[in-house]
Amino acid sequence: MYEMVMHRKTTKISGIEVEKRTVEFMIRLYCGNKHHATDGCLCPECRSLLEYAFRRLDKCRYGETKSSCTRCPVHCYAPYRREHIRRVMRYAGPRMIWYHPMQAIGHLWDFLLARIG
Ligand SMILES: [Zn+2]
Repeated sequence: MYEMVMHRKTTKISGIEVEKRTVEFMIRLYCGNKHHATDGCLCPECRSLLEYAFRRLDKCRYGETKSSCTRCPVHCYAPYRREHIRRVMRYAGPRMIWYHPMQAIGHLWDFLLARIG
C-alpha cells in the first residue's frame, strides 16, 4: 500500500484502486490454494470473476465519493458471481490478516461485505 502511494507521487491512490488490488489479491490467494493455480495464473473461472469484479468497480456509482461504504445499498453482483466472491472472501479474508495490516483493509472489508451482502 505504501509502495503504491510512493509510486504515484502526484495522485493519491483512490478507493477503487485499493479495492481492485485487494480483490485481486484475495482471488489469487483463493485460486492459488484451492484451484492450484500456479505462477500467479488464475484458473478460467477465477480470472473471469476478477474481470467481473473490476468491471463492477469501474461502474460503481459511488465511485470516488465513498464516504458511506459500509452502508453501500448496491448489491451489484449477479447471484452466481456473488456466491463465488463470497467463497473467495470467506477463504481469503481471515488469511489476509497475515499479509495486510488490518487497518489497511478494515474500511475496505466493510465495503466489500456491504456490497455482496
Ligand atoms: Zn480458481
